[in-house]
Amino acid sequence: MARLHISYPQLSFDAVYELDLGFCKLLIVAALLYKAFKWVWYYVGGFGLKQSVKMLKAHTLGPVFQYLSGSFLLRSKIDKEVDKSLAGLENSLMQQNDLLTNFNTLPSKGWSDDQVLEELDLSQKVLTHADWEAGKVSGAVYHGGEDLIHLQSQAYEKYCVSNQLHPDVFPAVRKMESEVVSMVLEMFHAPKTTGCGTTTSGGTESLLLACLSAKMYGLHRKGCQNPEIIAPVTAHAAFAKAAYYFGMTLRSAPLDPKTFKVDLKRVKRLINKNTVLLVGSAPNFPHGIVDDIEGLGNLAQKYKIPLHVDCCLGSFVIAHMEHAGFKDIPPFDFRVNGVTSISCDTHKYGFAPKGSSIIMYRNRELRKYQYYLSTDWCGGLYGSPTLAGSRPGALVVGCWATMIHMGQQGYIDSCKEIIGTTRKLKKYVQDQIPQLQIVGDPVCSVIAVKSSEINIYDLADKLTSKGWHLSTLQDPPALHLAVTWLTRSAIDDLTRILHGCVNELSATTKQGPASDGTSALYGVAGSIQTRGIVDRLLVGFLDTLYKTDRDFENGQTSTCKHE
Ligand SMILES: *Cc1c(COP(=O)(O)O)cnc(C)c1O
Repeated sequence: MARLHISYPQLSFDAVYELDLGFCKLLIVAALLYKAFKWVWYYVGGFGLKQSVKMLKAHTLGPVFQYLSGSFLLRSKIDKEVDKSLAGLENSLMQQNDLLTNFNTLPSKGWSDDQVLEELDLSQKVLTHADWEAGKVSGAVYHGGEDLIHLQSQAYEKYCVSNQLHPDVFPAVRKMESEVVSMVLEMFHAPKTTGCGTTTSGGTESLLLACLSAKMYGLHRKGCQNPEIIAPVTAHAAFAKAAYYFGMTLRSAPLDPKTFKVDLKRVKRLINKNTVLLVGSAPNFPHGIVDDIEGLGNLAQKYKIPLHVDCCLGSFVIAHMEHAGFKDIPPFDFRVNGVTSISCDTHKYGFAPKGSSIIMYRNRELRKYQYYLSTDWCGGLYGSPTLAGSRPGALVVGCWATMIHMGQQGYIDSCKEIIGTTRKLKKYVQDQIPQLQIVGDPVCSVIAVKSSEINIYDLADKLTSKGWHLSTLQDPPALHLAVTWLTRSAIDDLTRILHGCVNELSATTKQGPASDGTSALYGVAGSIQTRGIVDRLLVGFLDTLYKTDRDFENGQTSTCKHE
């Protein structure tokens, strides 16, 4: 998303709306009083004054603007701007090249092996990508070593047709999958006799399943009909997705303004009889901060609520920090009482091929609640442990091969290098670049920086122009880097370029108006009045992912009129 270049003009409108209040006045005053009461009681009580004022603005100005933007005066103007932005987006995303063949329909006669392979090579060559091989991307490719890729490709080839849905047909895959889970359980110190888990397709699926299990546990154990999740505002978006998919309410808990860890007092205030799950991250995606898992564990035990720790990102790096000699890592795994489930992405710092993650539980009852069972289907007795039906066995085999190849020492060594590199960058920013402030005190492999002097999104654009792709964050505006195995050899290049860009920006700008690039996009995203428009831009972005020439041949334009 960082490279969407969207320029959006300030919207202005001058329409006069006359409301004939008449006797409705009384009703309106009563409704307003009720709203005010609810606001003070519920939000200020739960979220604190500052956050509540923000939410109040969003809840009142948002609908007013939506109403006005629906009026025909503004609608055409807004549509035009949205179309213009989306056309720009299409241009940058839908890279084409005349050397490539476009397949909008099946070729009538199949291509030979050689032709297919040639086209694959050519596609990769002419449609240029960010320089991940040189480690100049945040996260994304966590190892990328040629030898490892070769091993994984061979593993894939050998087990290409396998499917975990058929353990009788592919018993070797069953063995390897169970071993992958067991090895990861051991890394996170799950109880020897009761600890259990499953593999999944990625961190999002692991989190969806953790939330589903908590929902079902709450329903069956406590009769909870309106399940709520309490998660830090920094928790991964997949928790909101789970709430959306499974009909749960997500209560976002604010952070301590100094440490950027979730504020435990606020978490406590949000707990009620509907709460089925507490969440902490180790570390979180935006700032790389590890929440106070022990504190959350105490709350979880006191109120008898399950606690999920999201180690998707930390994965094998955080799990090996202790062995690698980093003593400043606070407890985060099953050794903390109260932790009932942990997610760990093998496809991040486990270096497995993409499409691989583990969800772990303290006991089997919790795991059972993520299972799906159907006993009366004509197709036969059907039981499925995770979201998917058929599952690509080759990916689990690739994960297994990677773990066996790396071994504990391999992961300890990579942890030393990756954390060492992150600490080097952290120290450099702290000592040498006073215009940047590190968010909180990150101890793992991710650090985020903000700035009270320069526009951080302009910095992102500047870095991009020099080949470095950091992730942009909002609220507060910041940039982050997830250091990978590949970043370690590029870190001196980064510190040099970062320093140069920051100096250039502080010489030229003093928090001037937002420019055209990333800053403009976040300018739009951050303003309440235009939030509905950002939704439309995001939908347009997703639509663009599936566009081919076919859309244009059939007369579709770039206009996406989503209501
Ligand atoms: C990456 C990540 C996830 C899940 O991401 P997937 O893209 O689905 O693998 C969850 N939580 C955190 C903190 C993450 O960084």
